[in-house]
Amino acid sequence: MITLIDLPYELNALEPVISAQTLSFHHGKHLQTYVDNLNKLIAGTEFENMQLEEIVKKSTGAIFNNAGQILNHNLYFTQFNPHPSCPTPIGHLKAQIEKQWGTLDAFKADFDAKGVSLFGSGWVWLSADEQGKLFITQEGPAGNPITRIPGSSSVIPGSTHVIPGQTGHLRPLLTFDVWEHAYYLDYQNRRAAHLNALWQIFDWTIIEKRYLNK
Ligand code: MN
Repeated sequence: MITLIDLPYELNALEPVISAQTLSFHHGKHLQTYVDNLNKLIAGTEFENMQLEEIVKKSTGAIFNNAGQILNHNLYFTQFNPHPSCPTPIGHLKAQIEKQWGTLDAFKADFDAKGVSLFGSGWVWLSADEQGKLFITQEGPAGNPITRIPGSSSVIPGSTHVIPGQTGHLRPLLTFDVWEHAYYLDYQNRRAAHLNALWQIFDWTIIEKRYLNK
């Protein structure tokens, strides 16, 4: 049985970046529906008692789509803080970003560009392999980098390309939800403006913990 996560802040806490109305629909309707659908789909199957990440790694079709969306949204909603104690990258993650991109601005520009250029609905992820190397990937409608297998052009849904340099399994750290439901009520067609505003509410203490696997 998969349950709906609680938001770690009030519905209006992320305004004006994300309105209470958007958050109410996004968490209370969209995510709730994925949870309800998945529980119906896995009842009486081999997936019924699995952890969410395991379902995402092992399933296909409708089960993958709903499980992937739950995992993605759980990570998405919990990366925000209306008053982030660290509004920019810190610690080991900051050092690795600077090693690979040179500057935080260059990293941000790369991440933003992949969000703006993703065609249709999907996700942009920052993830790390087992050696701590960082990757930015564009994923499909329910895609999560945990399904990517090192050195393989996997047929797992959401994973369609080999990533040069990837030597271990990927752990998701930070994401843009590029489905229109994430921003259309507030920003209409201005996806770039929405993505740009999200940098104000990322909590880099949480993202650093994810990087250090804590
Ligand atoms: Mn969403």
